[in-house]
Amino acid sequence: MIKALNDAVTVLPGVGPKKAKILNDLGIKTIEDLLMYYPFRYEDFEVKQLATLADQEKVVLKGMIVTEPVVTHFGRAKSRLNFKLLVEHDVILVTFFNQPYLKKQLENNSEVAIYGKYDANRQSLTGLKLLGQKRPNDYAGVYRANKEIKATTIQQLIQVAYEQYEELLLDVVPSSLQTKYRLEKRKKMIHDMHFPNDQQTANLARRSAIFEEFFCFQVGLQLLKQKKRIEDGRKLAYDLSKIKALIASLPFELTQAQKRVVNEIFSDLKMSSQMNRLLQGDVGSGKTVIAAITMYAAVTAGKQAALMAPTEILAQQHAQKIQELLADFDVNVGLLVGSNSTKKAVRKELLAQIACGEIDLVIGTHALIQDEVAFKDLAVVITDEQHRFGVNQRKVLRTKGNLPDVLAMTATPIPRTLALTTYGEMDVSIIDELPVGRKAIETRWLNKKQFNQALMLIKKELLQGHQAYVVSPLIEESEQLDLQNATEVYQQLQEYFSPDFKVGLLHGKMKSDQKDELMQSFKRHEFDILVSTTVIEVGVDVANASMMVILDAERFGLAQLHQLRGRVGRGETQSFCLLIADPKNEYGKKRMQTMVETNDGFVIAQKDLELRGPGDVLGLKQAGLPEFKVGDPVGDLIVLQIAQQEAAALIAQGLTAKPENAELVKYLRRHDLKENFD
Ligand code: ADP
Ligand code: MG
Repeated sequence: MIKALNDAVTVLPGVGPKKAKILNDLGIKTIEDLLMYYPFRYEDFEVKQLATLADQEKVVLKGMIVTEPVVTHFGRAKSRLNFKLLVEHDVILVTFFNQPYLKKQLENNSEVAIYGKYDANRQSLTGLKLLGQKRPNDYAGVYRANKEIKATTIQQLIQVAYEQYEELLLDVVPSSLQTKYRLEKRKKMIHDMHFPNDQQTANLARRSAIFEEFFCFQVGLQLLKQKKRIEDGRKLAYDLSKIKALIASLPFELTQAQKRVVNEIFSDLKMSSQMNRLLQGDVGSGKTVIAAITMYAAVTAGKQAALMAPTEILAQQHAQKIQELLADFDVNVGLLVGSNSTKKAVRKELLAQIACGEIDLVIGTHALIQDEVAFKDLAVVITDEQHRFGVNQRKVLRTKGNLPDVLAMTATPIPRTLALTTYGEMDVSIIDELPVGRKAIETRWLNKKQFNQALMLIKKELLQGHQAYVVSPLIEESEQLDLQNATEVYQQLQEYFSPDFKVGLLHGKMKSDQKDELMQSFKRHEFDILVSTTVIEVGVDVANASMMVILDAERFGLAQLHQLRGRVGRGETQSFCLLIADPKNEYGKKRMQTMVETNDGFVIAQKDLELRGPGDVLGLKQAGLPEFKVGDPVGDLIVLQIAQQEAAALIAQGLTAKPENAELVKYLRRHDLKENFD
């Protein structure tokens, strides 16, 4: 049989269907997957000299036992095994905890090698492993494993796979780039990732592996974008003077960031290909105005535009704002929401107007994608918080038009550099600036014992006629407990504030029209405090709310805290956010401090990345960013940017033009790099 890198792992001896399934769970299907299953760290078993050691370093020391080993028992089943070891000219104390049986293998006046943690101040070693004659490789990779397979088994499989397939490991990165960036040959790189002799060898291999990963990803990504661009779209023949008039009529000047984004959008609209653009902007950064301008462009071209929002209340809010902005511009705006909130006859009339083009802009919920909705000529499609819709729902809306231009808006901030380099097949526009004069929300962090202080601060705001949100602790596993918690908080606040102020309760078990109704009533100031589990709708504007209190704030991710905080500070008045939290560790404290120190969603997203690593960041996953095996898009950002530039240059020359790209093309085929973006 001819061997190939995409052979299934079952070709290896000892890998049957059962083991293959386990490997599959780790993302390993083929030989190449296995060979690219890199260690996440290494253990250093090289024998070291005392003078070179750092405090608490894990090392192997070799020496002569110079005292009789003694076992001391203490507590139940606890013990300590002590002896002194002569390492060159120094004597150090070695201690093994709870391994009394090792005594049998230790003899006074004999040589041993021990792996352990060195304490430089005490000149002592806490033994972790007694290394007899049979020492492992000086330097060994440690692999992520799971309950069903051991890391050492994975390592052995990799060893076998490498021996059998090493001849097939041809260079994927073109040789000109390998030379330019002093990268290793693929065969050596993969060898050294798994079986390096020392940290330096491992680092060099890693450097090349990161480049390979980012470069292949970028080439795949850019090819996909190019393919989309070639697909037909329509030029939107908008009327620039009318659009300029609209912008001039706004009650404010667009921020620099908004202007840049408008330019990016209009250069897309002008092109004969379909726009596929993501608009990122923190809450309150002014995305709605951009939506209005973009929709208006369609109208000036004699066509229609639609905006789909995830909830009825958000759709209403958008419709109201956009209607205001376009009031003097002869545009008919229609609001299309769930059938039970509109009278049948009214709805029928609305649908007819949409179909004949009498209505120019339609704003609605997923009611927009029902079969009965037909447009005369839909040219611009906008989605708000598109991750709240399924892929299919988004597709259906697009098919209501004839290759319409698409703009997706999101308030999930992703650091600019990261978004630009790794976002799927969409182009990205970013509003990274808030309108001037916006008052920063003042954030304070109180511990639970200070809750009375929080109550007083809430009262102060209410006395000024403002309203407050109180978000109750989140218990992920149980909606029942969430509700119980929220109810308790609700009762407690009711007791404290009655009869002067009214409290309302919003929770996940309510039906969506009940939630909408309650939100509307809060907006009309029919009550003063809204207690809620985290279901508070992203984007609902209650300008009069000036206080956001988040209980057990340490349980939320930074991005989520930021989203919640964004519910206030939307009016003229100074707003406040109180985080009630008793974080247990440094990391938790840092997170609270970050919230207190900054209001900038992009800074927070960056901090979140640094503190948690990209895979964990709330919002990044849902925003569809890919995960990498070796490369860290934050720590290795410069490599990512270089890879992006080199990929663009390569594609501009034509990928298949040079024979040196042949292996790269094969690699992209093998890995179907499209799968990252679906
Ligand atoms: P987002 O949808 O991004 O959360 P909005 O579009 O709702 O933000 O804008 C928030 C508020 O800021 C609105 O009241 C809007 O009228 C106002 N606004 C938008 N752009 C500007 C600007 N350039 N200058 C001043 N105010 C602005
Ligand atoms: Mg908005």
